[in-house]
Amino acid sequence: MARNEESRVGVFVCHCGVNISSVVNIDKVVQAASQQEGVVVAKDYKFMCSTPGQEMILADIKEHKLNRIIVAACSPRLHEETFKKVLFTAGLNPYFFQMANIREQDAWVTEDKELATGKAISLVTGAIRRVRLHESLPTREVDIKPGVLVIGGGITGIEAALQIADAGHKVVLVEREPSIGGHMAQFDKTFPTLDCSACILTPKMNSVGTHPNINLMTSSEVTDVSGYIGNYDVTVKTKARFVNHDLCTSCGDCMEKCPVKVPSEFDEGLEKRGAIYTLFPQGVPNKPVIDAENCLMLIKEKCGLCEKVCEPGAIDFKDREKETSITVGSIITATGYKFAKPSILRDYGYGIFDNVLTAPEFERLNNSAGPTVGEILLKDGGKPQSVAILHCIGSRDKNFNEYCSKVCCMYSLKFSHLVKEKTGAEVFEFYIDIRAAGKSYEEFYDRIREEDVHFIRGKVGSVTNIPLNDEEKGKLVVIAENTLAGKRLRVPVDMVILSTGLECSDGVTDMTRMLKLSIDKDGFFIEKHPKLAPTETATDGIYIAGCCSGPKDIPESVASAQATAAMALKLISKGKVEVEATTSWINEELCAGCKLCIGVCPYNAIEYDEEKGISILNEVLCKGCGTCAATCPNGAAMARHFNDQQILNEIEGVLLS
Ligand code: SF4
Ligand code: SF4
Ligand code: SF4
Repeated sequence: MARNEESRVGVFVCHCGVNISSVVNIDKVVQAASQQEGVVVAKDYKFMCSTPGQEMILADIKEHKLNRIIVAACSPRLHEETFKKVLFTAGLNPYFFQMANIREQDAWVTEDKELATGKAISLVTGAIRRVRLHESLPTREVDIKPGVLVIGGGITGIEAALQIADAGHKVVLVEREPSIGGHMAQFDKTFPTLDCSACILTPKMNSVGTHPNINLMTSSEVTDVSGYIGNYDVTVKTKARFVNHDLCTSCGDCMEKCPVKVPSEFDEGLEKRGAIYTLFPQGVPNKPVIDAENCLMLIKEKCGLCEKVCEPGAIDFKDREKETSITVGSIITATGYKFAKPSILRDYGYGIFDNVLTAPEFERLNNSAGPTVGEILLKDGGKPQSVAILHCIGSRDKNFNEYCSKVCCMYSLKFSHLVKEKTGAEVFEFYIDIRAAGKSYEEFYDRIREEDVHFIRGKVGSVTNIPLNDEEKGKLVVIAENTLAGKRLRVPVDMVILSTGLECSDGVTDMTRMLKLSIDKDGFFIEKHPKLAPTETATDGIYIAGCCSGPKDIPESVASAQATAAMALKLISKGKVEVEATTSWINEELCAGCKLCIGVCPYNAIEYDEEKGISILNEVLCKGCGTCAATCPNGAAMARHFNDQQILNEIEGVLLS
């Protein structure tokens, strides 16, 4: 449509079933819209987003030669794209469209029907005034680079990487630890099937290590990301390993000779490792690294035993940190979780009494490759006669994490079974509610109840070692309330396991900054849409999988990994992607070169041109947030589709109707 061509507006008001129509008088809205200047047709329909609804709009565009369309319905986040496609199909520029949100911003938040109807009329009038000033914006496409970066080498990252690599595309998998595997590698059994964690995980880890399409970068972290969907430039920093993995034969002689003994992070401090070590025996890559903070040679220039025994000469004390630059088309963030360590742990005797363990510590104690070769033993080597498992430590608690960590009930049930099976001890589970919502989870709960575990509903207040009677002497005493029986309890036990919840892993702040992601109040990444786009983010081409967006069990993590892999593969197969046309632009004649816009742009989309003495905007990088337009004192930076006149017209329409 030429700029001065008469605007012919079509207004389509949706009932959304009864979501809108039970509060808003739709007839009155249609009637008010039809009287506005430029409106050629105004109609309503029960579900405007349905195929008949879209076909009605399409037919009216043709019949009435409409060139501007308003849909008054739900949030544009849900269906703006749906209706823009209708315009495109009809041969109209999709930006000749405006959505009036009369559901979330009106019907759902206004009880009074008259007020709600008046508000809907105001919103629709504002949209009509605005859409008449809309301009045609060109659609732009960028090429997609075929590589994919996966950040995080737990089960989620492993699965995502394998899916993409098996489809024939290159993947760079970055893991900050010396081996992939993540938390799942620490577990012995998985619920509810009690199958061996390593038996499922190890073949997948080996496939990653040997896959021709996967470039595995361990001991590495992403330190910088720039660019946009299809073209992300990424910097990866790899720590010095001081062992040349090309020469190392994994014989392990070096690790046997190392005189240093420090707590093993993988074994949750229950076992020691050397300064030269592999994370765990089945690690991938299964080659040692030297921990520079504890190696005597690197700290004091003494020792060098590993170098002496290493036949292939793989030890390299001169190794230094390296930086690698890669370019990928999309990024999958699978940075996982960490077990919470709330300060409340001390109330339960953690760090004060022996035999009070956190869940990950118990996982290692129970693991056949762990410090006791899988025997569940007390600190003095004896077998526990009684064990208490305390649920919701730091979860569902207003003082710590309010959210439910989702997996703790199930892993606690697993612990009960393992304790019973290996020690025959009496087991007490202290819980608030048992949450067993997953395939075969309720059946697993039933099975554990049949194993004579005592389930006590009530939150534990504290754990003490001060006895009140002979029975409590030499025991840990769990002080709790049985809320079903309405009485206080003291339960003497030999071992206490604290079912600690899940929190987002460390380093999320850096990731948030680099990937331009947002985090929720609990610290997890926010999805583009919680229901309709749970693995996408507000940054195009960046996807989130696994626990980085909230607690998940293994099946859910794997499913989300596969979903992100599908998203990345979709991009690759398209080869090109349409990018936002509603970017800003800078009027060179008005720009005074003050550089204020450069400082405020969160996407680094503006650069200073020394020669011209003005700021230049890169429209591919620009996300159209409008910050520069709001900041520019000269009005040189302007936001397309959100110019002053369009916004003022909309406000005027809302206020004057
Ligand atoms: Fe590798 Fe050398 Fe150690 Fe053997 S001795 S595991 S070859 S670094
Ligand atoms: Fe261990 Fe360092 Fe000595 Fe090697 S040089 S054996 S890593 S302390
Ligand atoms: Fe940067 Fe301005 Fe684009 Fe926002 S609108 S991304 S501030 S150039």
